[in-house]
Amino acid sequence: MLTQAPKGTKDIFGADMPAWQNIEVKMRSLCKNFGIEEIRTPIFEHTELFLRSVGDTTDIVQKEMYTFEDKGNRSITLRPESTAGVARAYIEHGMHNNAQPTKLFYIAPTFRYENTQAGRQRQFHQFGIEMFGSYSPALDAEVISVAYELIKNLGIESIELRINSLGGPECRGKYNKALKDFIGDNLSKLCPECRERYEKNPLRVLDCKNHLCKEVIAGAPSVIDCLGEECKNHFDTLQEILTQMGIKFTIDPMIVRGLDYYTKTVFEFVTNTIGAQGTVCGGGRYDNLVEECGGPKTGAVGFGLGMERLLLTLEAQNGKPEYKPVRHIYLGSIGNKGFIKSQAITLGLRQNGIIAECDTVGRSVKAQMKYANKIGAMYSAILGDDEVENDLVSIKNMETGEIEQARLTELVGIMKKLIG
Ligand code: ATP
Ligand code: MG
Repeated sequence: MLTQAPKGTKDIFGADMPAWQNIEVKMRSLCKNFGIEEIRTPIFEHTELFLRSVGDTTDIVQKEMYTFEDKGNRSITLRPESTAGVARAYIEHGMHNNAQPTKLFYIAPTFRYENTQAGRQRQFHQFGIEMFGSYSPALDAEVISVAYELIKNLGIESIELRINSLGGPECRGKYNKALKDFIGDNLSKLCPECRERYEKNPLRVLDCKNHLCKEVIAGAPSVIDCLGEECKNHFDTLQEILTQMGIKFTIDPMIVRGLDYYTKTVFEFVTNTIGAQGTVCGGGRYDNLVEECGGPKTGAVGFGLGMERLLLTLEAQNGKPEYKPVRHIYLGSIGNKGFIKSQAITLGLRQNGIIAECDTVGRSVKAQMKYANKIGAMYSAILGDDEVENDLVSIKNMETGEIEQARLTELVGIMKKLIG
């Protein structure tokens, strides 16, 4: 127990880290281009916020939340998704008073009590975008284009975009009725949760993973056929913009997404290269959420992208990247004078942008050289009494064995030249 992380969680370090840092750098730089600013909300919120926004017929609220009472008897939940918290922040800080749209992104650990399997953890990470303050399909297209560009920049070829429209409350009412009629006598074949969904929110049955439920709804009517004029126009314009942007998509009327707050556009980026959990990114428009949470009526669109699944997809395509630590120089030492001096000179190198390392363990010279090799040092040097007294040092190229003499006091300049 003591030496094992809780089920469904992972330590991320060492050889796995460069890939994480790489996608995070790409996400941040892309958001900069799109004028999307970062937001960091608390990892826990009042439970009520998720009940209200995510919806009580969803898997998340029914079985996946980490909910507990704090010492002040408040019901608290670790965030199972970030849209609710970001919408709460949007209202709390009066962001609707700023020039709209408000465009925010987050990179956030997220918590769901789920059965763990490949691509399904209990603590995972989402990169997400939320844009508030417009009802135009142009905003849907902008949000989708962020995920599209990210996937393209990473060189991933297997992920495709699927879109659908759930319409507004009126279309939804019409569709729920059509779906109920379709399920008809087969109601008793649905799983207990879906029977409840049938009453409260029939659309959710389409999202059930139970194979019997899937059989019942095979061939169900398409939600797109129930769209009213305004919603249909919205969906058509979105498709036109995406086409002009050169973004490829297919229409998939079975996409409903796992959250109750979606209206009109919903979309997924899916791959078939990482097993059963192939949805890398999911999102859509949620025009009622801000109002539902106590703010003004506000059009909004967003997505959540599972970073673990994105990395799995990258790995499925390119294999595990080689792990190569890099140091420009290892400044070893022999004797106490050299040992002390090497610490200060190493700091000086680091202050000048050179990746430098010295002995902080008290190793023998032989062991120091072995270590220098291990950490991928490009150059090495050893400081002893003589070197310190005469202000001279021999810099060795670790690959070719070539040696260059230099003044200790000029080491920074020489190293800069050597590493280009
Ligand atoms: P799923 O159908 O996989 O359960 P979902 O509908 O619950 O997904 P969302 O709530 O839309 O997913 O979350 C957005 C993205 O977050 C998913 O597409 C996925 O990439 C990722 N994700 C969701 N749950 C997990 C999890 N338990 N472990 C890892 N990634 C997850
Ligand atoms: Mg889920």
